[in-house]
Amino acid sequence: MSRAILPGAMVNGQMATLGVMGGGQLGRMFVHAAQAMGYFTVVLDPDAASPAGRVSHHHIQTDYWDEQGLAQLMQRCAAITTEFENVPAPALVTLGAHRPVAPASESVAIAQDRAAEKAHFVRCGVPVAPHAVIEKAEQLAAVSDNLLPGILKTTRMGYDGKGQIRVKTREALVDAWAALKNVPCVLEKMLPLQAECSVIVARGADGQMVNFPVQLNLHRDGILAVTSVYEGAVPTDVAAQAVAATRAIAEGLHYVGVLCVEFFLLEGGQLVVNEMAPRPHNSGHYTMNACDQSQFELQVRTLAGLPLSQPRQHSSAIMLNLLGDLWPEATPTGKGPTSPAWGQVLALPGTHLHLYGKLSARPGRKMGHLNITGATPEAVRATALQAAALLGIEAF
Ligand code: ADP
Ligand code: MG
Repeated sequence: MSRAILPGAMVNGQMATLGVMGGGQLGRMFVHAAQAMGYFTVVLDPDAASPAGRVSHHHIQTDYWDEQGLAQLMQRCAAITTEFENVPAPALVTLGAHRPVAPASESVAIAQDRAAEKAHFVRCGVPVAPHAVIEKAEQLAAVSDNLLPGILKTTRMGYDGKGQIRVKTREALVDAWAALKNVPCVLEKMLPLQAECSVIVARGADGQMVNFPVQLNLHRDGILAVTSVYEGAVPTDVAAQAVAATRAIAEGLHYVGVLCVEFFLLEGGQLVVNEMAPRPHNSGHYTMNACDQSQFELQVRTLAGLPLSQPRQHSSAIMLNLLGDLWPEATPTGKGPTSPAWGQVLALPGTHLHLYGKLSARPGRKMGHLNITGATPEAVRATALQAAALLGIEAF
C-alpha cells in the first residue's frame, strides 16, 4: 500500500470508499467505524439480511468468489479488508492485484490452515502444543502415544469448537478421524490449561505496529463467553511474553491490518500459542468502550494507510458475549417478552449494549455483546456479575 486514503477525499472520481468481504458482526462494526470517520462503505456478502450489509452504504449480494461481485467491489472501493478468515484466499488474490487488500491473501491463507499456522508460529520461535499433522492413514498409525489424550482438529474451517473431537485412545482417534470424514487434521496433545488469553495488534503497511493489552478469555462449550481486561487479570510477565510473541508473529507475516493471537496459559505457568485470527476478534470488543481507539478503528486506519498510535485503555473492562440462548422463547401467539432484560441491565453503571441486528436468535448464535466499564477491577467485576445474573449468564 502506498498513499493514504483520506476520509472525504476523492479517489478515482468517487468519495473515499472502503470495502469489506463478509457481512457478519465484525464487518458491521468495521462499517460503523469507517462511517464514523467519514468513509463510504461497501459490503460483499451473499446474505440479504447480513448484519454489515444492512448498515453499509452499499451491499453487493453475491458469493465471495463471484467474478462480477468482485469486479464491482474493486470498482467501488479504494481498499478492501475482510471480516472472517474463510473468505476464499483466491478471491483476495484477485482483489489484491488491483487494490490494496489488508490483510494480504498470504496471511489469510496461513490462518485458514491450522498446520500452516502452527508452522509459522514455530518459525517465529513461539511454543505451540505438541502436535502431528494427519493427512494419510500412515500418519495416523505413526502418531506418538505422547499426543494422547488429545484433540483432533480439522486443519480448515473450524471455529467455536466446531470441527474438533477429543480423543483418549488410539481407537477413539481412528473413529474421530472417520467422523471428520478423513479430511486433513491436526492432532494436538490435551494440555492442562490454567487460563486462556489473547492479544490484538494492528500493523500498518509501513511496518508500524501497536497493540492492545492482554485479554483474559473464558470459553464455554467452545465459544468465548467472557473477556476480562484490567490490571492483574493476567500476570505481568505472562502478558509481556504474549505481547512479544504476537508482535513477532505479525512481523513474521509482514502483516497489514488487525491480527488476534490466542494463547493457552498452562498449569505450570508456561505460555503456548493456540491460533490466530486475521481480523478483529470477539475478545477485542471491549476496546469499543474501554480504550481510546477500538480494534475496528485500527482496522480502518491500517486499511486506509493512516497513522497508528498506541491505543490506551482508560477503564477496567469486562465483555459478556450475548448468545441466542439468552433470548426468551417467543410464545406461539407472538405475545410475551421477546428480548432479555435490557432495561434492568442498562440501569447498571458503565454498561454498553451492542447488538448485531440478527433477525433470529438460536442457541450458540452470537447476537451481541455487553461491555462493562469501571474505574477499578473490583467495580467492573461487581457490575458484570450483576448484569450476568440479570441475563441468566452463569457467574464467572
Ligand atoms: P476454535 O477454532 O474452534 O476456536 P480452538 O483450537 O481454539 O478452536 O479450540 C477451542 C477451545 O478448546 C480452546 O479455546 C480451548 O479451550 C480448548 N482447547 C483447544 N486445544 C486444546 C489443547 N491442546 N489442550 C487443551 N484445551 C484445548
Ligand atoms: Mg479458538
